[in-house]
Amino acid sequence: MTRERIFLFDTTLRDGQQTPGIDFSVEDKIAISQLLDEFGFDYVEGGYPGANPTDTAFFSEKRTQKARFVAFGMTKRAGMSASNDPGLAVLLQAKSDATCFVAKSWDYHVRVALGCSNEENLESIRDSVEAARAAGKEALVDCEHFFDGYKANPTYALACTKTAHQAGARWIVLCDTNGGTQPAEVTEIVAAVIASGIPGSSLGIHAHDDTGQAVANSLAAIDAGCRQVQGTLNGIGERCGNANLVTLIATLCLKEVYSNRFETGIDVERLAGLTRLSHAFDELLNRSPNHQSPYVGASAFATKAGIHASALLKDPRTYEHVPPESVGNFRKVMVSDQGGKANFINALKRRGIEVGKDDPRLDQLISIVKEREATGYAYEGADASFELLARRTLGTIPDFFSVDGFRVMVERRFDSFGRVKIVSEAVVKLTIDGAPHMSVAEGDGPVNALDLALRKDFGRYQHEIDDLSLADFKVRILNGGTEAITRVLIESTDGTGVRWWTVGVSENIIDASFQALMDSVIYKLMKNRELAGKIAAE
Ligand SMILES: [Zn+2]
Repeated sequence: MTRERIFLFDTTLRDGQQTPGIDFSVEDKIAISQLLDEFGFDYVEGGYPGANPTDTAFFSEKRTQKARFVAFGMTKRAGMSASNDPGLAVLLQAKSDATCFVAKSWDYHVRVALGCSNEENLESIRDSVEAARAAGKEALVDCEHFFDGYKANPTYALACTKTAHQAGARWIVLCDTNGGTQPAEVTEIVAAVIASGIPGSSLGIHAHDDTGQAVANSLAAIDAGCRQVQGTLNGIGERCGNANLVTLIATLCLKEVYSNRFETGIDVERLAGLTRLSHAFDELLNRSPNHQSPYVGASAFATKAGIHASALLKDPRTYEHVPPESVGNFRKVMVSDQGGKANFINALKRRGIEVGKDDPRLDQLISIVKEREATGYAYEGADASFELLARRTLGTIPDFFSVDGFRVMVERRFDSFGRVKIVSEAVVKLTIDGAPHMSVAEGDGPVNALDLALRKDFGRYQHEIDDLSLADFKVRILNGGTEAITRVLIESTDGTGVRWWTVGVSENIIDASFQALMDSVIYKLMKNRELAGKIAAE
């Protein structure tokens, strides 16, 4: 039986940007679009070119390889032709494959927000879609407040979808912008749209989580015929968030009621990277993953010892609705951890590291990782550090150099004009090929000084690390109080444009930073020798 294709549309970088406290830089957007593209999403909506400098810069280049790269913006203004609308021109000049127009589909909003006639709004939809197609773009139309609009005036809401469809929009997306619609209403209204003559293969669903049903509403729409689903990583978004695509992907791929009928761009192998994707995104946001997230949370497959644990060990299917490894998560039972072992073997294999399941070094690595994670290390967000730890435990890292010590000094003083001046100076002592190297550097802050000193004199490796640069630096205090632990994540890049992440954990922020810096340099030297795996560096 052939299965129908469901298209996955990610709007983390556009609608997710509305989340309170989230403000993506261009670099963040580039990193996230790469995560999404590599994972296998069909569409990556990157933002609103022309609306702010970040999005305009982000759209100066196409940022995806496989996924369709989507620019979002308004339909043309009423009372002006499409070719004369400067906003539309900027949108169509963006280096995107597709253009998603947000259009009013509730007559009340047309009157109050746009202040134009219903007819003029339909004209804007039609002309904008035609202009996008003429510019060589795939056109999408997000029908804002569609469900509320339909309830208020079904004839007009349907006229909006029909106009978009007839103008040649590839997708007409039904948006539950306020997030208050219930699954049964979604089912009924999507059916009415299809009955009006628009095929489900042209319909998308965009749901918000204001009643905790964004995923349920998305599935109801798919059941009713929609073939594109929109959402965000980990369900970020305005107010209560958007539909969580991580949850939706797992459900569509693993639940027979869907997987028997539908397929997505995510195959079994990619699905096993779902937990990693979710956690890597949280690390980018510098926040702790929600332990209770469906499928990917640390507690999603955790069982406390007790009556369930022994039955679980005999046959995991008794207590698990899906196998944890199918989404790259771990079974957590207090006794033994076979699922974890298979995951490790897979994680290592992906980095080109072969190790037998009975190799004692594998058990050693697993226990080191678990111990370290218990003290605050987070390897999901620091692939390069994980790889180095694995290779170190398996004994395959050359001794490039050793660190004899470092010292960092921060001085607050007044300059000759009586202004406060903060000076940071670092000294690093290394041994390379048996010879001592001591470097001193001043920097903007202690970590910068330390980084400059560490990389100032690297002996015969100096030329190899010239193109290494630090792209990002994230600090998290893991537990408050007097015993606070600091975790530092560093993102590095080099002349090849490859990025990698390293981690350090310590009671001391400078020491944690130093560990992450060291890992970054060692990873770079490994990478130069093609000794490092591809995964971390992709
Ligand atoms: Zn939205």
